[in-house]
Amino acid sequence: MRVIRHVAELQQLADRERSLGRSIGLVPTMGALHAGHLSLVEEARRRTDRVWLSIFVNPTQFDDPKDMDAYPSTFEADLRACREAGVDVVFAPGPDEMYEPNSQTWVDVDTITRPLCGAARPGHFRGVITIVTKLLLAAKPHVAVFGEKDFQQLAVIRRMVRDLGFDVEIVAGPIVREADGLALSSRNVNLDAEARRQALVLCQALDAAERAIAAGETRSEALLQLVKLEIGKAPRAEIDYAELRDPESLEAAPPELDRATLLAVAVFMRPPGGAAGTTVRLIDNRVLRPQQ
Ligand code: AMP
Repeated sequence: MRVIRHVAELQQLADRERSLGRSIGLVPTMGALHAGHLSLVEEARRRTDRVWLSIFVNPTQFDDPKDMDAYPSTFEADLRACREAGVDVVFAPGPDEMYEPNSQTWVDVDTITRPLCGAARPGHFRGVITIVTKLLLAAKPHVAVFGEKDFQQLAVIRRMVRDLGFDVEIVAGPIVREADGLALSSRNVNLDAEARRQALVLCQALDAAERAIAAGETRSEALLQLVKLEIGKAPRAEIDYAELRDPESLEAAPPELDRATLLAVAVFMRPPGGAAGTTVRLIDNRVLRPQQ
């Protein structure tokens, strides 16, 4: 397994692999790897001859510097996990490698970035899309794999790739969960034991909505009330958003659901009453399918 630090070196290797007729699959990450990331590696492995994984904690997508400081870093363990998973190249650029000191160029996507995480985290998607563009230009992959865990991010990247005509196939991997249902996230290590327990309300709320849909409920308001009720059972969870949206355009869902609809939730897990500590923001989602 090669560890590459520089864009020019990665581009040269991409050209060589391509000239030899080998396909490249890229898995972009911010490190602190877990089984969710590794499932994307597996997905890339099924589709391409070479699997490349990037590790870069992208400063421009953090709207809050404290959030970036608290972001976990486990580089040596990440390299071991990549080696075991059969990753061919880890691209781990330093911050100066990805942004020119006087960088002025951004890639931005319009309406689809406005709701959900875009509303909650100003500038977040501009940072995400700019770095994904740079990673695609650096690695020249045939396939790039992203997780449905970040559902809006995936929709925005698909939109950007279509709009700019990138010659890359975007592939989605399903959400990988702990045995009890919590979606794996690098941020979970920042949850204390009680917050970890209470964080289960996210997937419990999604389960409740899914059961209600299966029982014939189609009213958006009723479903959202149910979700808020479930999340409200955790005193340390504060809802950032809980919304129903079209899975592709991310437009608001109609009052009566008549097709597959994204239910997306984000919560802040707060430190115990009055105590200093980290607030951890968690997201989860499910596509609900009303009975026909
Ligand atoms: P991150 O390192 O959090 O930026 O995530 C890198 C990639 O892994 C993104 O495409 C995420 O959507 C994906 N990912 C993160 N958590 C999970 C998970 N639990 N299941 C599947 N994919 C995930």
